[in-house]
Amino acid sequence: MSELAYPYEAPASQALFDRAAAVTPGGVNSPVRAFRAVGGTPRFMVSGRGPYLTDADGREYVDLVCSWGPMILGHAHPEVIAAVQEAVARGTSFGTPAEGEVALAEEMTARVAPLERVRLVSSGTEATMSAIRLARGFTRRTKVIKFAGCYHGHVDSLLAAAGSGVATFALPDTPGVTGAQASDTIVLPYNDLEAVRAAFAAHPGEIACVITEASPGNMGVVPPLPGFNQGLKDACAADGALFVSDEVMTGFRTSRAGWYGVEGVVPDLMTFGKVMGGGFPAAAFGGRADVMAHLAPAGPVYQAGTLSGNPVATAAGLAQLRLLDDAAYARVDAVSERVRGLVTEALTKEGVAHRLQTAANMFSVFFTDRPVRDYEDAKAQESFRYTAFFHSLLANGVYLPPSSFESWFVSAAHDDEALQRVADALPAAARAAAEATA
Ligand SMILES: *Cc1c(COP(=O)(O)O)cnc(C)c1O
Repeated sequence: MSELAYPYEAPASQALFDRAAAVTPGGVNSPVRAFRAVGGTPRFMVSGRGPYLTDADGREYVDLVCSWGPMILGHAHPEVIAAVQEAVARGTSFGTPAEGEVALAEEMTARVAPLERVRLVSSGTEATMSAIRLARGFTRRTKVIKFAGCYHGHVDSLLAAAGSGVATFALPDTPGVTGAQASDTIVLPYNDLEAVRAAFAAHPGEIACVITEASPGNMGVVPPLPGFNQGLKDACAADGALFVSDEVMTGFRTSRAGWYGVEGVVPDLMTFGKVMGGGFPAAAFGGRADVMAHLAPAGPVYQAGTLSGNPVATAAGLAQLRLLDDAAYARVDAVSERVRGLVTEALTKEGVAHRLQTAANMFSVFFTDRPVRDYEDAKAQESFRYTAFFHSLLANGVYLPPSSFESWFVSAAHDDEALQRVADALPAAARAAAEATA
């Protein structure tokens, strides 16, 4: 999108972005924040409160990204902030064990039955990287199956995207990932159990694990077809591979027990992040006790972290999880349903072809008239309509993901006033989407 089509209306953000570009590649510390998919000036935020974010130019937005999921209670929840302040006052890192990390692990294992043992780390990337290493160490096999369009952080072997056809050995998708790392990764189309069975048949006894997003949200929301996750689990069990369910996004968001709580398929290993950190860098991997027993210092597979189980991060995560009772999830689900209804109503009124896809309280809009079951379907959407839709909403105080390949996230703090602002902004955005041209 050219700068002319979306003139900068955010001088303070633009000034910060210019400063940032002089010291940081692309001006951001995580690429999607740069707005490259939609164009225009990324908004630099200075504060958050409940369902709102305020940018450097003093404009307030209803936040439908929620830090990509973590802020499920809204920004600056008073009880989470109080827990953080209490923890900070006692010191910010000890480099020793401390009770907070035990309490957080207890809360997580109590909620998610297959999580018999859990190890805390600092990012979702670290969680999936460690889970893959453990799966390889436990099975003494090298190959990993992942699905096109699923994101598991920037782990070298998991950045491989699809080659063509079934059971293709993927080529590295990004410079810096070696052919060896990528060639141990088999990339398959999502929701295609036949492709999975064919890959196991082609590589018997070689596959360490299948890793999948429990319900994908990183190509937009593309839920598993009924039986898909169970089919993965069964295919793994039949071959002696491990089934790794990546719940970094869905964990403690889609239900008390994440996507496991929705579907009930029991993974061998699981990964977590986002919600469990309460807005701090905290993540985890865990699962079967006999598999986790292979992890150092109990076993030979090495894994460690200077800031793992950080006392401030665990205090934030624990406070947030303890507030996430059935009533909180009911509220998040109701907010999600309301926003989905408003979006459908506005787009339908303007005659814009779209698919609203939902996985519990996660959802996203695809500008297409066909169901989206995998990454190829997702790529077939009319993303130029999303760009117009996004900028109209942004101009009217609603903050959406700056990409059509991302889930939207709501919180329990989205009250009637915030929802009314979304309702007021949607008709113009739907018109913009209708009028958009490629
Ligand atoms: C966000 C995400 C990750 C990576 O987590 P980071 O904390 O960004 O490293 C991994 N897997 C899934 C499913 C995610 O959504």
